[in-house]
Amino acid sequence: MVDYLIVGSGLFGAVFAREMTNNGYKCQVIDKRNHIGGNVFTENVSGINVHKYGAHIFHTNDKEIWDYVNSFVEFNRFTLSPIAYFEGKLYNLPFNMNTFYQMWGVTKPEQAKEIIQSQVINAGIVSPGNLEEQAISMVGTDIYFKLIKGYTEKQWGRDCRDLPTFIIKRLPIRFTFDNNYFNDKYQGIPIGGYTQLIEKLLEGIEVKLSVDFFSDRAFFESSARQVVFSGKLDEFFGYDAGYLEYRSLRFETEELGVQNFQGNAVVNYTEKEIPYTRILEHKHFEFGTQPTTIITREYSQEWNKGNEPYYPINDVKNEKLASLYKERAENLPNVIFGGRLAEYRYYDMHQIVASAKKKAKDELVKFKA
Ligand code: FAD
Ligand code: UDP
Repeated sequence: MVDYLIVGSGLFGAVFAREMTNNGYKCQVIDKRNHIGGNVFTENVSGINVHKYGAHIFHTNDKEIWDYVNSFVEFNRFTLSPIAYFEGKLYNLPFNMNTFYQMWGVTKPEQAKEIIQSQVINAGIVSPGNLEEQAISMVGTDIYFKLIKGYTEKQWGRDCRDLPTFIIKRLPIRFTFDNNYFNDKYQGIPIGGYTQLIEKLLEGIEVKLSVDFFSDRAFFESSARQVVFSGKLDEFFGYDAGYLEYRSLRFETEELGVQNFQGNAVVNYTEKEIPYTRILEHKHFEFGTQPTTIITREYSQEWNKGNEPYYPINDVKNEKLASLYKERAENLPNVIFGGRLAEYRYYDMHQIVASAKKKAKDELVKFKA
């Protein structure tokens, strides 16, 4: 009998397990995959740390969270500045003066603002109600049609007019020549990969891999005082009110006999006709100088029971169903739900760390009371 059976060894499960273990509670972690780390897992191949489930860059404005992760592993000074490829031309991301110069030849912020403003007026958008309107109101029609529409519709498999505005609001827009994809004060990648961070978080904690909670649910529920669940919210309830939708990904990874394939960690392919959304070149996340290189083409696809769920689709229909499950989850006294899948939320890593620490703290307060 343990105090906490933690389902999922991703960042949520690992931080929660660390916090409760530090406070003297016995934790056991299970994961249905054959490795720890969930989607932040990295694997060393030919000396290069491969981000097996897509590019992961840690960024936060919260010094406490930054200090917390840095207390386990050292982070490097990597700054994400992806390049967008559209019809043979390259543009800097996020949308900034470099992009505006490449798009229109403008050299001054006021000129860029004028062009965007006139395109927004021509499009007649007053109060954006969907992703298309939101994007046009932020950067105008030229950038929307070249750098956003194709990429977003590949990524989400839906028309931009059927997608929520918050997805595109994640991207900064700057009228300075600054290609940093994030606005946060702290940013980097664990030196030696994310797996080391998870290993350190889970040090001294029992972990069982290739074990699915649902393979023997009754046993697992009876083996602990409390279950901490970071798997799929709808699966926990046997999908009895219906299936939540997710976007899944397919990764095609290959090692190439060249030293440097694309000169950047991430290149986005924004035209619809190219089937993948982006190409990652993993060595550039850690300024690698290895003689070969490893690249991954990332394809977006609909989730079904046979593949991995990556992105919750937070549209009206799915939000309604998720609320129903969440209400039921809140009424279960012996289960804590947390993480991207169990909360059905588009969380970044720093938010996951904050959320796991908060949930652990709430538990400790509960026991002291
Ligand atoms: P997960 O990592 O999904 O972990 C859940 C774990 O639970 C998995 O290991 C799974 O196998 C296990 N599990 C599920 N069900 C069961 C079961 N029934 N039994 C046993 N085990 C189970 N965030 C950033 O901050 N920066 C980025 O650059 C970034 N890039 C991203 C790129 C991509 C392509 C994706 C998909 C996400 C990205 N994120 C990024 C988000 C980041 O991956 C998440 O915030 C984080 O990994 C969520 O951790 P988690 O523990 O909630 O979930
Ligand atoms: N996006 C885009 N073009 C790009 C990059 C991003 O249109 O070249 C849009 C797309 O809708 C995407 C959203 O911006 O879903 C958020 O991008 P981000 O890079 O944050 O997505 P993630 O890393 O989570 O896949």
